[in-house]
Amino acid sequence: QGLIVSFGEMLIDFVPTVSGLSLAEAPGFLKAPGGAPANVAIAITRLGGKAAFVGKLGDDEFGQMLAGILKENKVCTEGINFDKGARTALAFVTLRDDGEREFMFYRNPSADMLLKPEELNLNLIKSAKIFHYGSISLIVEPCRSAHMKAMEEAKKAGAFLSYDPNLRLPLWPSAEYAKEQILSIWNKADLIKVSDNELEFLTGSSKINDESAMSLWHPNLKLLLVTLGDKGCKYYAKNFKGSVPGYGVKAVDTTGAGDSFVGSLLAKIVDDLSIIQDEAKLKEVLKYACACGAITTTKKGAIPALPNHSEVLEVLKTGPK
Ligand code: ATP
Repeated sequence: QGLIVSFGEMLIDFVPTVSGLSLAEAPGFLKAPGGAPANVAIAITRLGGKAAFVGKLGDDEFGQMLAGILKENKVCTEGINFDKGARTALAFVTLRDDGEREFMFYRNPSADMLLKPEELNLNLIKSAKIFHYGSISLIVEPCRSAHMKAMEEAKKAGAFLSYDPNLRLPLWPSAEYAKEQILSIWNKADLIKVSDNELEFLTGSSKINDESAMSLWHPNLKLLLVTLGDKGCKYYAKNFKGSVPGYGVKAVDTTGAGDSFVGSLLAKIVDDLSIIQDEAKLKEVLKYACACGAITTTKKGAIPALPNHSEVLEVLKTGPK
């Protein structure tokens, strides 16, 4: 079984016990471990795949707690560093009545931002069949250089590169800088997954159509995916394009749906990357990934809601909406 290395941040979201209120009005908060790259790693192992998380945590109780959660979920933690000085990142999240989220981050700086290139576990990174990453690790140094080095070493060793930008605008100094930096590593990826909102942000066009998606195509790209919330996803490969519908579920919290989608997809293709060149096979994998995304919205929090294989089979049996 091929190893998927997921690089980036892991943090704790503090989620209000009562939704629809402002952060100041919230009577209390629950700890919800998260961070997209960590969610992706757990999405993979929950389905029986092999994953490692590479990043930095604070050498504090929260950092130890997060590493423990990865271990309980059978994610390899040999690529984690602990910072003696800085704290594990925290985010306070408001869940508005319409289900949309707003974030307030405590990162001044947090341990994840302080990962240095020389701290990387290069043996682990070079053993990746797939190397997956986001864009939050590009925001500041020294983490940005660590990201670039990890990505380059993985690529040199033959890894397939998977990129989910996971735009979090409040973390960037400006929207222009976010766009520039997110696009600065665009041409290195073999697979890119964006959400409909990210497509709008990156293209500057309010239209979600084939033309705007294809404006994000680059010559070395093998697969571009655009996720559309409850409407499923669109896919673009060199020789074909199409869409897969979403699965009808009662969504209570969409946190982690995209991570579940991309993690399950990577778990399905890691041992046979030729799947993404074959439309019929790719569609089957994307149906599976959409079912995973859908299931993840049915429970609060990301990690508790990531499905195992038998839960996915149940939803697949009911068919799409
Ligand atoms: P995130 O909120 O984690 O950043 P994202 O915006 O990247 O997620 P989404 O488009 O919200 O990604 O979701 C990814 C996939 O999960 C979708 O393509 C879809 O298949 C499934 N999904 C998401 N929300 C729903 C929903 N409400 N009902 C059914 N399926 C859903």
